[in-house]
Amino acid sequence: MNEIKVTLPDGSQRPLPAGSSIFDLAASIGAGLAKAAIAGKIDGNLVDLNTKLADGAKVEIITEKSPEALEIIRHSTSHLMAQAVKALFPQAKVTIGPAIETGFYYDFDVDHPFTPEDLEKIEAKMRELAKADLKIERSELTSAQAIELFKKMGEDYKVELIEDLGADRVSLYTQGDFADLCRGPHLPKTSFCKAFKLTSIAGAYWRGDEKRPMLQRVYGTAFADKKELDAYLERIEEAKKRDHRKLGKELDLFSFNDEVGAGLVIWHPKGAMLRTILEDFERKEHLKRGYDIVLGPQILKTELWQRSGHYENYRENMYFTTVDEQGYGVKPMNCLAHMMIYRSQLRSYRDLPLRYFELGTVHRHERAGVLHGLLRVRGFTQDDAHILCTPDQLDAEIKGVIQFVTEVMGIFGFEFEMELSTRPEKSIGSDDAWELATAALLNALKDSGRPYEINEGDGAFYGPKIDIKLRDALDRRWQCATIQCDFTLPERFDLTYVDADGEKKRPVMVHRVILGAIERFIGVLIEHFAGNFPTWLAPVQATVLTVTDNQIPYAQAAFDKLRAAGVRVQKDFRNEKLGFKIREAQLQKIPYMLVVGDKEVEGGLLAPRFRDGKNLDAMTPEQFIAFIENEVKTYK
Ligand SMILES: [Zn+2]
Ligand SMILES: [Zn+2]
Repeated sequence: MNEIKVTLPDGSQRPLPAGSSIFDLAASIGAGLAKAAIAGKIDGNLVDLNTKLADGAKVEIITEKSPEALEIIRHSTSHLMAQAVKALFPQAKVTIGPAIETGFYYDFDVDHPFTPEDLEKIEAKMRELAKADLKIERSELTSAQAIELFKKMGEDYKVELIEDLGADRVSLYTQGDFADLCRGPHLPKTSFCKAFKLTSIAGAYWRGDEKRPMLQRVYGTAFADKKELDAYLERIEEAKKRDHRKLGKELDLFSFNDEVGAGLVIWHPKGAMLRTILEDFERKEHLKRGYDIVLGPQILKTELWQRSGHYENYRENMYFTTVDEQGYGVKPMNCLAHMMIYRSQLRSYRDLPLRYFELGTVHRHERAGVLHGLLRVRGFTQDDAHILCTPDQLDAEIKGVIQFVTEVMGIFGFEFEMELSTRPEKSIGSDDAWELATAALLNALKDSGRPYEINEGDGAFYGPKIDIKLRDALDRRWQCATIQCDFTLPERFDLTYVDADGEKKRPVMVHRVILGAIERFIGVLIEHFAGNFPTWLAPVQATVLTVTDNQIPYAQAAFDKLRAAGVRVQKDFRNEKLGFKIREAQLQKIPYMLVVGDKEVEGGLLAPRFRDGKNLDAMTPEQFIAFIENEVKTYK
């Protein structure tokens, strides 16, 4: 056969000379496409650009703009890094180097840990190798041949990988004098690595096993072009500046203390105030929407956790204690007490829906390695509610929760994305129940008019769920709200209601949080606002500053008025220069500085100045109180 025909993604067919590669196909379509092409897809599988096409193949050309491109670019850049390391440190042994969400890494076995200077040298070598425009070529060989090859090179880790793989044949990618065991696909040439940066070094055990050698992991990132790389690096810098752990200390919001325990937050006055504001806000918003506030105990008998299934499935993450020979579990979830409230009376369909809301403090033993500031802690408070309703009511209830999330996220200025996770292979509950709950969640998503994604089979075994991820000022996603239907707990605790027909029936149970863990949400808020909280959230809204000691009596009287009216106010009457006091207040990110000089004393006024330096018209203390009240009321 001298000619083959391939099918393009738009369904059109294209004849090509036999033996043509994907690159040849791109070139036959246009010179621009040939230049932009970096890889291809044959029948849905990613392959190298120089892969030969068979007659009848379905082909897609991958360019730098394709969604699949980034991973190929990043993985190829990790090979480039390994090549540079081997060139500079011939004794280094290579292991693995995958692409990850933020870039790539490669683990090396070296005698000495890499230094930041080494990183610079490696990066410079990478640029040199990229400029050399080396061809990246795939070859296949038997495992035995590959083992022999890597043994000769002294690459023991690769030998172990091939042995574990147990395949007959493996593929090798070679660029210049560097060869790596790899499935591919890769960029066609090293010059396609155009925008990369090595970012950090860390220790990592070979295969995550602490009994195996400690390796040096070099992290880097790569993009299709320099503009995207620069934008990413800028975001990283900005994120560092906004790190809630750093700001939490500078603004004196919270701390952790080894003497107390890892992952246990200590709230300082300003942080505790911020939390209180959020909690008051939550109570008000829940009461407005027909929720009842409830409160369960911190510890519940172990037998109850056995009945709920937590003991069997979640024991490792729980804290237990025994008193008077009775075992208790510290609650990791708030559901059980809420079910006890439901069960405390005979329920009729007329009582439903019941919506129990609790700012429920829970403890979960997270591994030390995953703890991270306020974002991952061991003790936290959820804005948790359980809705118990009839199957008929489920639709409206789920819609209500999504509406709730939409309104609350609007107040904080967050955009968000939603995902529905459906029935997994292993699950409990009847087909009817799953269908009903999944339909209710899906209807609510459609009804919201917002885009959503469906993760087929990704739900919990006990029910489908919606996860809601908010997007912060740096375009990062944070999981916060979840809405979870549950078919097990009403069964296990035999929850019933008497229906209109006089029959006892099972209510549907929905677990849901809106902000999620308050700790985590505050961590996100700190980074989102870079500590510049809006007036309604700011733990300190205003500070009264005197110019000289002459104004102290008037300033004190103004301060008293403001505080009595509920303004969160602070004062600085020290004998310091006004400029110095203003700078300090700005560093504390206090929204309003109220300057009091002789003119203000004479006129009975305050001169407010916003933290960004903007001056407002002078106003009386009463006018300022009304101004703050209005900002709070309108969530400014
Ligand atoms: Zn590879
Ligand atoms: Zn729950």
